Amino acid sequence: MREAVIAKCRWMNASGLNQGTSGNISARYKDRMLITPSATPYDSMKPDMIASMPLEGAYGEWDGPLQPSTEWRFHLDIMRARPDVGGIVHTHSTYATVLAIARKSIPACHYMMAAFGGTDIRCAGYARYGTKELSEHAISALEGRNGCLLANHGMIALGANLDKAMWLAVELETIARQYYLSLALDTRIILSDEEIAETAQGFSTYGLQAPKPKPKARVTAKAAPRRAEKRRSGKR
Ligand code: 13P
Ligand code: ZN
Repeated sequence: MREAVIAKCRWMNASGLNQGTSGNISARYKDRMLITPSATPYDSMKPDMIASMPLEGAYGEWDGPLQPSTEWRFHLDIMRARPDVGGIVHTHSTYATVLAIARKSIPACHYMMAAFGGTDIRCAGYARYGTKELSEHAISALEGRNGCLLANHGMIALGANLDKAMWLAVELETIARQYYLSLALDTRIILSDEEIAETAQGFSTYGLQAPKPKPKARVTAKAAPRRAEKRRSGKR
């Protein structure tokens, strides 16, 4: 799990979704949360540098050789409030941050909004990084959602596991870029609550590959005499 966290951190920088030591990632492991250490370049991060914190009990107590991410509060508060969440990605991705600088929430400009659990991606109020206040703003912006913007800062994406959280972080940045670009046009259409609800319903089966129907057995030249023989002898 520690290796998976580091691999995701490296991928998020290599893909351009994040830069430098900005951002942080956490994963639920049994009754603990694993979280990236603070201010540590992802390329030099080693599994034993990942901090571990109990989810319940001593708030903010941690094990590890390095200080946990300065954002441990919102990671921990989200994991405590949302038992469905197994992975959290925080990045300073460009377009999400641009909208967060303008303090704009993202409306349902694309059907992929349905993947975030509602009809918008809210922008959480501003508070200095690493504070309890920022965590409180994030928790309320994430109410019923799997992602939010952080004013003048970046974004947070949540998932049942790390893969899902990173997938949504990419989707959030994509929808932010699409919305930002659409603002250059003199018109745009926002999807209705019903259209988003309809998409959410579609998502419940999207990707569930139904088994391919078996082709009907055709009687081949070889099989035909054998079948005729079976029929004659009464065998089935
Ligand atoms: P850390 O290096 O402490 O995780 O901080 C980075 C960050 O993005 C703070 O919001
Ligand atoms: Zn940050």
